[in-house]
Amino acid sequence: MSEPSTRSRRASGGRASANSNESLPLAGPVDRERIVAAVREILLAVGEDPDRDGLRETPQRVARMYEEMFAGLRTDAALVLRKSFVEKYDEMVLVKDIGFESMCEHHLLPFFGKAHVAYLPNGKIVGLSKLARALEALAKRPQVQERMTEELADLLMRELDARGVGVILEAAHTCMSIRGVHKPGAVCTTSAMRGTFQSNPSTRSELLALLRTSPLS
Ligand SMILES: [Zn+2]
Repeated sequence: MSEPSTRSRRASGGRASANSNESLPLAGPVDRERIVAAVREILLAVGEDPDRDGLRETPQRVARMYEEMFAGLRTDAALVLRKSFVEKYDEMVLVKDIGFESMCEHHLLPFFGKAHVAYLPNGKIVGLSKLARALEALAKRPQVQERMTEELADLLMRELDARGVGVILEAAHTCMSIRGVHKPGAVCTTSAMRGTFQSNPSTRSELLALLRTSPLS
């Protein structure tokens, strides 16, 4: 097949557009056949026989896997959060240890870990599972941990109209453990503080103290 058919609609590529990540245009359906052909090419290129028994179904499997791993390209993270409730609660909301898996866009290798997400509502709260869904939508695409942290913080600020947001991500990167510097066990921590979490040291200390306490103790 020649090039064009699925010309990417994200004309600006994965560029973070620092603070305006207002609903990125959503991707069209995954072109599975194109992935199948590409994976077959990779197998040939490394000197394998893509037609031998063990590999025959591999391109299809990889295509289905990518469809799943990149499902966030077809999910509107902002929309996920739009169902909020008006509630008279103005203390910190913190959800700790939300697991996520993402794909490093430099190596197309997974990185995975936990997110801790806090916000100070401004008369609007959102279902707790929606925070996890929004995280998922941002994770399931070619990503960089630093950018993902900021995207989530900015998204929450915008959609929840929050007084403040704090996002901390801790992740292990397989591109650091199974190749390159080979440092298994290294954990990368990133954080993005917005609003009162940025401007008020006591709010930030409260968050950090809550993160140190063990669950349900
Ligand atoms: Zn990487």
